Amino acid sequence: MKNYLLHLDDKLLAVIRRIGKESEKKQFSAYIVGGIVRDIILKRKNCDLDIVVEGDAICLAKVLGRKWSGKVTVYKKFGTASLKTSKGLCVDFAMARRERYAHSGALPAVRPGNLKEDLRRRDFTVNAMAIAINPGCFGWLVDEFGGLKDLSKKTIRVLHKQSFIDDPTRILRAVRFEQRFSFRTEKQTLLLMKAALRKKLPSNVKLPRYFAEFKKILCEADPLKCLKRLHQLDRFHFLDSKLKVRVRNLSLLHQRIQKARRKPLYGQGNWWLIYFLGLLGEADDRVVKRVLMKFPFTKNERISIQQSRKSSDIIRKLLVSNLCSSQVFRILRPLTKEAIYYLRVLSFRAIISRRIDRFLAYDNQVKLCINGEDLKKIGVAAGNRMGKILEDILCLKIDKKISSKREELKAARLSLMNN
Ligand code: ATP
Repeated sequence: MKNYLLHLDDKLLAVIRRIGKESEKKQFSAYIVGGIVRDIILKRKNCDLDIVVEGDAICLAKVLGRKWSGKVTVYKKFGTASLKTSKGLCVDFAMARRERYAHSGALPAVRPGNLKEDLRRRDFTVNAMAIAINPGCFGWLVDEFGGLKDLSKKTIRVLHKQSFIDDPTRILRAVRFEQRFSFRTEKQTLLLMKAALRKKLPSNVKLPRYFAEFKKILCEADPLKCLKRLHQLDRFHFLDSKLKVRVRNLSLLHQRIQKARRKPLYGQGNWWLIYFLGLLGEADDRVVKRVLMKFPFTKNERISIQQSRKSSDIIRKLLVSNLCSSQVFRILRPLTKEAIYYLRVLSFRAIISRRIDRFLAYDNQVKLCINGEDLKKIGVAAGNRMGKILEDILCLKIDKKISSKREELKAARLSLMNN
């Protein structure tokens, strides 16, 4: 039998061997499962080590946690545990299980099962393979549903006809894998997917779950490919039936996002949200209001969406000639990082890019030497007025009209006298 694990790097291999040995000692059978198996065969990097155990997965995680001085988090209700080793590796352990769906889109009822049953509950054949890791069969592939053949044929195929009905989030997953790997969705699978969309089955899924899967699409290295495919299949009706998206505009936004992302200044953005802002770019206010009510956004995401609605106005303000640095600062400072990034990729004018880059790289980093305590000493009470004085002094510093602490205090006294 071929050993599918031999080409892994030595450290990861040692970890996997150890898990297999401990499993054997406990008389369990342990397997690597899911996306990492697909990626091992495709020789793609994947650090999510998912282990399925025919036996007590929590017990195995705890034993290894003790050996590696790692942190084990147990989810007893689900029979799963996560182990984080002191070297930063994360391993998820789950008992082999079978599932039943009470109705379309429901969370499945889970019962202990064997490996085959565990693989049968998975989304696509290419994600339904396992690799044994107990010593006697280390590295052997378990491929009950033809995953290896589909992988070589670059095909996404569901395991059974009911798959999209049971769990419509798989529609988004199919699109994501199809586009990420440049695979094709097999004919029958595509028909089932389209039928599920026609019946509007995604609306059966709890919205946070569906949105979480959509967010994974926006986090892909190339979300545009998936977005184009989704547009073709569903026109983003799951977001809102009245949402109009122009693919041409999305493509332009994508190009500009890719360009901006390469700049170190923009390395750390929540880029998925910028794509989302782009999707809502042409929507009218009623659609945006509905989307905001429907999906579980964080406070910062909500504010970013609201601020992005004012992008044209802000761009107009930023286009005014002869703005000094502090004027740009006052325009951009109230915005979230994502709303600013969105402006940056939305506008084609070099002057806007320059002003935003300058704000992010320099002016937004300027710090005062004085603080509220210094102002109290000269008689300014805490409150809005103090905030305004501090901001005015900061603006003077941004415009390089003052620099030292002494000058800042002098400016504070002046401001106090004039206000
Ligand atoms: P990625 O490479 O993006 O992390 P993945 O294949 O590892 O993708 P996960 O969402 O991490 O996907 O899920 C891990 C595995 O769990 C999948 O490979 C699949 O076998 C199974 N799985 C996840 N979601 C579903 C689902 N909705 N229905 C059935 N199986 C699923």
